[in-house]
Amino acid sequence: MSGLLPLEVALAQILTGTKPCVETAELALIESLGRVLAEDVYASINVPGADNSAMDGYALRVADLVQHPMPVSQRIPAGAAPQALEPGTAARIFTGAKIPPGADAVVMQEDCIVEGDVIRVKVAAKTGDHIRPQGQDIASGSKVLQAGRTLRPQDMGLLASVGCERVTIYRPLRVAILSTGDELVEPGAGTLADSQLFNSNRYTLTGLLQAMHMQVVDGGIVEDDAQATAEALQQAAQEADCVITTGGVSVGEEDHVKAQVEELGELALWKLAIKPGKPLAYGRIGDTPFIGLPGNPSSVFVTFSLVARPFLRKLQGINEEALPTLTAAADFEVGRPGGRQEYLRVTLVAGESGLVAHRFSNQSSGVLSSVSHSNALAVIPIGRTVARGDPVEVIPLDLLAG
Ligand code: AMP
Ligand code: MG
Repeated sequence: MSGLLPLEVALAQILTGTKPCVETAELALIESLGRVLAEDVYASINVPGADNSAMDGYALRVADLVQHPMPVSQRIPAGAAPQALEPGTAARIFTGAKIPPGADAVVMQEDCIVEGDVIRVKVAAKTGDHIRPQGQDIASGSKVLQAGRTLRPQDMGLLASVGCERVTIYRPLRVAILSTGDELVEPGAGTLADSQLFNSNRYTLTGLLQAMHMQVVDGGIVEDDAQATAEALQQAAQEADCVITTGGVSVGEEDHVKAQVEELGELALWKLAIKPGKPLAYGRIGDTPFIGLPGNPSSVFVTFSLVARPFLRKLQGINEEALPTLTAAADFEVGRPGGRQEYLRVTLVAGESGLVAHRFSNQSSGVLSSVSHSNALAVIPIGRTVARGDPVEVIPLDLLAG
């Protein structure tokens, strides 16, 4: 099909040359969940700091095991500083305690017989048994985490393990959302006439942005009117690092976004070769980047996830890693090859020989239930047909909302 832009081409245009646009700040590590590291972090210590025991048991020198029974010469709890091991003896030791100089193995207590203050070892031990070596987790001087990393709970723990207490992060990206359409009413603002509908896009987008720990600037509902659209766009561009609109980017005479962005900055209007989500606008209002998503609620989710999400993450300073690719067996058929790459809303379930993708019954771009009652997008490339049982690429929705 001619005139449709492949997704990769659109993404390359949008991402090439895009740099983090937010200032950096210092933050307490304990408050850093979901924030993006702005600097590499290096370790100034080894973790663990010394060889230590992986078990409750007895530390000894393997070569001394010829002598039996072995006297127990000291007791080393975690946190204690041990004395050098007396030759021919064993030290009672606990998990995490430092190995005494002179010992080269730990024997688990389950493998020892205690007879008063001597022990007998029931098993063959070898050098290094049950010893966690110094620096096993992190070596002093090594890079612990790289700039551009979104901090997850385990990353917070990792940084704490090297003694880090404050981190340099990018301040959250401010993203303005404008919902265009005379038919829209905010939930809570009264009952609907049957020509109206509640503004769901604002909620979907707010959730998607919050899941990325970005700051939402809500520009409200914008009337289908040139002047109102221009004013709302201008104000949003002043308040935010990026402006996102929904609706109004088709070519009907009630679609004012295109013309007003062209007035205020620059615009490329794309017909993307994806389904749902054909119309998409990209440009700037003054110097503020702008993305115009389609109005249909399912298209909003898909185009945001595929196009806006990687763009915003780049502005936020996130080092983007490609989403892991998963494959599932289709529990559906696609009989006719399409001219656009299709993103079917599916539910993945674990089958006997791997994942199975069940297609939601109604794939209309206006049916938001299709996204809500699914847990993945199945990617059907242009020109492909699918027979039941065929492998299809799937993107879990959890990877997109976060
Ligand atoms: P448009 O691109 O403005 O023609 O919108 C396409 C479709 O999406 C229309 O059926 C709109 O009613 C619907 N739509 C637009 N904006 C929203 C919104 N914020 N929430 C829910 N539906 C919307
Ligand atoms: Mg509209």
